[in-house]
Amino acid sequence: MHLSRFPRVFLAHLPTPLERLDRLSRELGGPEIWIKRDDCTGLSTGGNKTRKLEFLMAEAQAMSADVVMTQGATQSNHARQTAAFAAKLGMACHILLEDRTGSNNHNYNENGNVLLDHLHGAATEKRPGGVDMQAEMEAVAVGMRAAGRKVYIIPGGGSNPTGALGYVNCAFELVGQANDRGLVIDHLVTATGSAGTQAGLIVGLKAINAGIPLLGFGVRAPKAKQEENVFNLAVKTAEKLGCPGVVQRGDVVADTGYVGPGYGVPQADTLEAIRMFAELEGILLDPVYSGKGAAGLIDYCRKGHFKKGQRVVFLHTGGSVALFGYDAVFADDTSRQAAE
Ligand SMILES: *Cc1c(COP(=O)(O)O)cnc(C)c1O
Repeated sequence: MHLSRFPRVFLAHLPTPLERLDRLSRELGGPEIWIKRDDCTGLSTGGNKTRKLEFLMAEAQAMSADVVMTQGATQSNHARQTAAFAAKLGMACHILLEDRTGSNNHNYNENGNVLLDHLHGAATEKRPGGVDMQAEMEAVAVGMRAAGRKVYIIPGGGSNPTGALGYVNCAFELVGQANDRGLVIDHLVTATGSAGTQAGLIVGLKAINAGIPLLGFGVRAPKAKQEENVFNLAVKTAEKLGCPGVVQRGDVVADTGYVGPGYGVPQADTLEAIRMFAELEGILLDPVYSGKGAAGLIDYCRKGHFKKGQRVVFLHTGGSVALFGYDAVFADDTSRQAAE
């Protein structure tokens, strides 16, 4: 498996650091917790979409696209990183934002990622929650193509086999870092949404027979649906890489017990996780993805699913810019005393 065979625009700050979280580990009293800092990929405050976009934007360049289009929720980190990448490459960027939460809060709708989308020069259009966003993009693209534009459409989250290559590479990078310092990883955990991160990681881990179980903490879909999405994408990604069959259905595990009320709506354990990482480690999580993933990690440590003597790596997928769209949630938060 040779990723250099695929076109790529090298823009991310790689390798991202792999660090030990001493104070959080001590606080939880269970396994040694490590963090893989994909919040530090460099582009417009970083995040996991940048690794995917290195491969996706190379395809856009290869077809001489002058516009990239993508979609996501209002506070989409993927949209923000796509806007920044397009700016860097001198392409226009057109974003459709789906109102998945129905929030009327000003900061949610205008601050955080939305502010940065516009600073990077992207055009945004809103759509109501629940519409077929892929179809909406295709419809907008028809008009643009008729006007002579070359449009490259990136699916939500950049999650297709091309984007997932970025996380195949991340699996190689992480295992290489662990090998270089004699670190035996017992578990790798991450938030999972549009599936490209988990699918790419599992293909990479299995292709090199790393023997590291991967657990995704869901942020939206129910467990069976999430696992099916990840598995289907992993199968296609493995085919693209010339190693079909490397991922079995049983390798794909998601726990969707920390979603709370729904996508983009944090609950008490999400906020507690954000506060613990901020206060114990100086690390910023986000209220939509990494905060829910970390809530799962913390609960697994407390319940003894992850044990003393084990080493668990949390892949930090970024997103802290969204905190500025969610300030009201922290003002209302009553979990503060509980966390102290
Ligand atoms: C998109 C995103 C995820 C989920 O990654 P997928 O590849 O969509 O599953 C996790 N964390 C953050 C901060 C994200 O923006």
